[in-house]
Amino acid sequence: MTLTGLPDKSSLELPELPLTPTLTLDPSRTALIVVDMQNDFVDPDGSLFVPAAPSTLPAIEALVERARKSGARVVFTQDTHTSDDREFEIWPVHCMLGSRGWQIVDRLSPQPGDHVVQKARYDAFYGTELEHYLSRIWKIETVIIVGTVANICVAQTAASAGLRWFDVVVPADGISALTAFDQASTLRQITSLYNGKVVAHGADLNFG
Ligand code: ZN
Repeated sequence: MTLTGLPDKSSLELPELPLTPTLTLDPSRTALIVVDMQNDFVDPDGSLFVPAAPSTLPAIEALVERARKSGARVVFTQDTHTSDDREFEIWPVHCMLGSRGWQIVDRLSPQPGDHVVQKARYDAFYGTELEHYLSRIWKIETVIIVGTVANICVAQTAASAGLRWFDVVVPADGISALTAFDQASTLRQITSLYNGKVVAHGADLNFG
């Protein structure tokens, strides 16, 4: 097995993913962050469609409803770009401010009382008011993170939350990636680097 230099494809193994069976969270100290569930990523006509993303909608929708009902904060991040954005050096044009692709999918429409954070980069903390609300206003300790793309905006936001010592919780059925490797490596990083907790399903989380 080669552990240095370029990975040898034949030696790649699925990483160990410690699962937490169920978790009970204090709604007054918990925020659910729904990352980038926008038409450009979730709708088949979107410019950066993630084919696995639509299948996460039922789990995310159910979790959002339960979080709202419990009194937990619900935050939606919205990837937001303008025409001169440097991200288009990396990706095709997507999530242009005001476009249909930029809008959060109808099924998860933010409701009064939810909070929407527009962000220009993968990390929802970078250059946004997210930390201000979570820490200073709401006194949040735990963030549940769902959405897409798992190894990009979900992972970078989870990392940024972990670095700030928020407790990070990720339901595996609420995140989606383009490959199984990306999905697995995301969950691996969240548990191993940030002491995050992964549950198999959003339904394994209780607000109580
Ligand atoms: Zn973007």
